Amino acid sequence: MNINYSLKRSKKRKKTISLQVGSNSDITVYAPYYTPVSEINRFVEEKRNWLDRILLNQALRPNHHKEKTYETGEEFYYLGLPYTLETGFDPLENTGVFFRFDRFILNCPDNGEMKKYYFASWYQKKAREHIPIRVEHFSRELNLQPRGVRITSARSRWGSCSEDNSLAFSFRLMMAQPQVIDYVVVHELMHIREKNHSSKFWRLVIGAMPDSMVHRRWLREHQDMLKL
Ligand SMILES: [Zn+2]
Repeated sequence: MNINYSLKRSKKRKKTISLQVGSNSDITVYAPYYTPVSEINRFVEEKRNWLDRILLNQALRPNHHKEKTYETGEEFYYLGLPYTLETGFDPLENTGVFFRFDRFILNCPDNGEMKKYYFASWYQKKAREHIPIRVEHFSRELNLQPRGVRITSARSRWGSCSEDNSLAFSFRLMMAQPQVIDYVVVHELMHIREKNHSSKFWRLVIGAMPDSMVHRRWLREHQDMLKL
């Protein structure tokens, strides 16, 4: 069977062909500009076993990115734990997402965009309650004073620190474990001192939170889990 991949040729690349599997199981091959297609195909073919293993792994991963359908039984994460969703629509009750007895309840007409909107609003609200408190906590501990804290809808930019030390955090972080959220808070606070990702910056972050690299890696590997 043929393996489908997209090919990126580069004039800068000298000799090696390399291959990358994206989170949606898409395969990209990077090759030097003049490499013949036959050689690229041979390279991909040699990687077949390895690719099969990776792709199988992705398919089996519970959070392999599937579009959310917002149907009863689906799981949504809150502070790192999965909770089951129950949906329905009772027009006499308040619409929106509610969290009761360790379950998400969604009372909303059957409309995907609306359901997504209600979930986003719920996480936004939780983020506004949770994140500023963590910022305050670490701000005191590290003696770093931000100018303000904002909650955003960013999809993969978990946090940021502006030139004037205003911090912003994505509401999507509320799906991650509290320690992961704390790591992003510490990371952005540390940018008040170091506006870059130099080794000095990372030393300061790790000094403040020794597990930082574990949380950083977790975020990189679980981006899909934090999607709505
Ligand atoms: Zn940073």
